[in-house]
Amino acid sequence: MTEPRVKIDPDLCIGTGDCWRLAPDAFVLDESRGVSTPKPGAASTDIALLEEAAFNCPTRAITVTKT
Ligand code: SF4
Repeated sequence: MTEPRVKIDPDLCIGTGDCWRLAPDAFVLDESRGVSTPKPGAASTDIALLEEAAFNCPTRAITVTKT
């Protein structure tokens, strides 16, 4: 099975929290930087949920690709 790859551009993220509220198993706040970061298990999260998070990110900081 193909697993998605999840990236967040820390220069674009403004820490709104939309992504980790929508997919708490995939994203978490990096408190030291005030930005979101993918969790280690993010790739096992349902790709539709990851794509929804990417779509709803106000700054388009999230990239989801199939590896
Ligand atoms: S939704 Fe986008 S801007 Fe908001 S915390 Fe997540 S990655 Fe950052």
